[in-house]
Amino acid sequence: MAFQGQRNKRRMTYHRRKICRYCADSNLKIEYKDSRLLKLFITERGKIIPRRISGNCARHQRILTVAIKRARNIALLPYTTAIIRK
Ligand SMILES: [Zn+2]
Repeated sequence: MAFQGQRNKRRMTYHRRKICRYCADSNLKIEYKDSRLLKLFITERGKIIPRRISGNCARHQRILTVAIKRARNIALLPYTTAIIRK
């Protein structure tokens, strides 16, 4: 790893540049029916993980967003997780 010790504490939360997994694997398709795969891109509260974290490219993130919204519509994915109140 090319990580020199200088200026180490500038940004501790910096994460490595991830590549878009859909660009890397061309036969991987974004499908709203594939809730198992879409689940990787939502938080446990049901929110869509932003591109800067998920590492997707703009094109695929856009397609993914539509797929997630579609999947929510047919109840494959949650809109939100219910908070149990007393
Ligand atoms: Zn991509």
